[in-house]
Amino acid sequence: MNEHYDVVIIGAGPAGSVAAARLIQEKKSVLVLEKMQFPRFVIGESLLPHCMDFLDELNLLPCIEKEQFQPKTGVCFYHEDEICDFLFEEQFTEASWKYTWQVKRAKFDHALISEVEDRGAVVHYNATVTNVTMGQTEHKVQFDLAEVGQKEVSCKFVLDASGYGRVLPKMFDLEIPVQTPDRGAIYTHVQDENRSEKAGKNIFVHAFNDNTAWIWSIPFSDGTTSVGIVGNADFIKECQENDAQLFNQLLGDFPGLNERYKNVPQLFEPKVTLNYAVSVKQLYGHGFALCGNATEFLDPIFSSGVTFAISSGSISSDLVVRQLNGEQVDWEKDYALKMKAGIDVFRSYVNAWYEGVLAKIFFTKNRNEDFMRQICSVLAGYVWDESNPFVKKHKTILNTLSKVIEMQENE
Ligand code: FAD
Repeated sequence: MNEHYDVVIIGAGPAGSVAAARLIQEKKSVLVLEKMQFPRFVIGESLLPHCMDFLDELNLLPCIEKEQFQPKTGVCFYHEDEICDFLFEEQFTEASWKYTWQVKRAKFDHALISEVEDRGAVVHYNATVTNVTMGQTEHKVQFDLAEVGQKEVSCKFVLDASGYGRVLPKMFDLEIPVQTPDRGAIYTHVQDENRSEKAGKNIFVHAFNDNTAWIWSIPFSDGTTSVGIVGNADFIKECQENDAQLFNQLLGDFPGLNERYKNVPQLFEPKVTLNYAVSVKQLYGHGFALCGNATEFLDPIFSSGVTFAISSGSISSDLVVRQLNGEQVDWEKDYALKMKAGIDVFRSYVNAWYEGVLAKIFFTKNRNEDFMRQICSVLAGYVWDESNPFVKKHKTILNTLSKVIEMQENE
């Protein structure tokens, strides 16, 4: 006889773990199917304070605190000689977290899923989901379990948290093209031998090539640092050629980095991710929902991916609980529109970044500190706080402000 669960979750990244934690808390039986053996590398290492709200609600902070990750108290943007520093303690949104962490995802994701397993979720690693068949009330999930072979389980609900695996979007033909140019990233971890106290330990971002490209530095608590370059896909391919010659040259000689990463040991060969932006036509359907990167991912510039994975994992699993308890759930209003609202705020900021609009606002000599505090809350992930004009009017406010700044500068 087939095993049966209330919910099968595909993927043990942050979206899957948080969803599992919520379902277990509500006494639902949960099977998490994860393709890889954990711990495993994944990119996406700088968190946003808003994810702490969701982790806290599920009492998931203690298992993360144990890992002693690097606290992140802000984010710093550079453009040539200009610096724009955001500190989360100064942000506009009142009941907000003032810090979060910079994490090696292998450890972070492993800590979360292990905690959830301890709380009662069944987790199979090396288990690749190969097929999902939706029935009236019972759904079937087939997976390939290493050293065992094909298996099938049944469940009342399927949550797809498979990240770039995008299991259900591919299976159910839900993928749609994105509107943004093809971009990519090349990255590695380095032994940060030249790190000084003065350099700071928060994430910093250097914009270059007319804001079409940028370099990230994400220092970790163990003395290593994640470094990467994001840009148009063709530029990233060029960075990768000849054993990543251009990538290494940029890291070593980029003026703003002051040779911090020149000839330092790299902990692995630079990895490349091309065309990372993805989208879907719907976030849910009969008996299933998508969360995390299985839905939409815009761009890494504001480190929003894990926070969206955690928030969508939490919100979707909340609705699954209600549905399984016999309530009528409005998935469109309470999930799709809610997630879309947050994504759309970030979309405005991502577009404004690559169009150079944010550069005008970030690097002007006449920064308005109230506005900066409001923008800081967006950068902390509080994109549903409609009392913040930089959330509520996100579609117009950035362009308007940059025009005003331009006029002031031309006076
Ligand atoms: P994942 O963490 O990808 O987890 C999905 C899991 O599903 C994986 O473990 C995978 O093995 C498993 N899986 C896939 N297919 C199957 C299958 N068929 N069967 C079973 N399991 C399967 N975000 C940030 O917050 N901060 C950052 O600084 C940041 N930087 C980034 C830089 C780059 C260059 C890119 C491309 C992204 C970055 N992101 C960042 C985004 C971040 O990587 C993702 O948003 C985040 O990992 C999504 O989490 P998730 O739980 O949805 O998916």
